[in-house]
Amino acid sequence: MTPNELFDAALQLAGTGWRVSATQFQGEPKQLELVLEHDGQSRVVCADCQRRCTIYDRVEKRWRHLNFFQYPCELVARVPRADCPTHGAKLTTVPWAAAGSGFTLLFEALVMLLAGQMPVSEVARVVGGRRHAALAADPAVGGSGPCGQGLECGAGDRH
Ligand SMILES: [Zn+2]
Repeated sequence: MTPNELFDAALQLAGTGWRVSATQFQGEPKQLELVLEHDGQSRVVCADCQRRCTIYDRVEKRWRHLNFFQYPCELVARVPRADCPTHGAKLTTVPWAAAGSGFTLLFEALVMLLAGQMPVSEVARVVGGRRHAALAADPAVGGSGPCGQGLECGAGDRH
């Protein structure tokens, strides 16, 4: 089994039309980037009406995922936009993240679990910074910051 196939299995991509096409371990500090590729089928589903449409184009998106040991991990994919006759060019949904989110479902689940157990500033320390801890303080994703400062609450903040 290749590393890409291992990550396919870990992300449960079988049957989704997606696969891991490259793994890159780079940068300083080191970070793991998993590049995902869609199978290139000629039709995709409109996120609004579920109609099967031709592909309008593809847009590169990035999602913060769970750390790989101590290293931050991000997923990168060129996500197809459906050419829907009713809704226009609509970004299709991906199996690993909620629509419009910059975080994978597993990463969101971890942050929400931690947010229920510790202050947001501690969540920020664990998950790697203010931007990611903001997820825990965002009521739109079901969390609430203990300081009541919403998205501004982060690592090292004292209110
Ligand atoms: Zn549509």
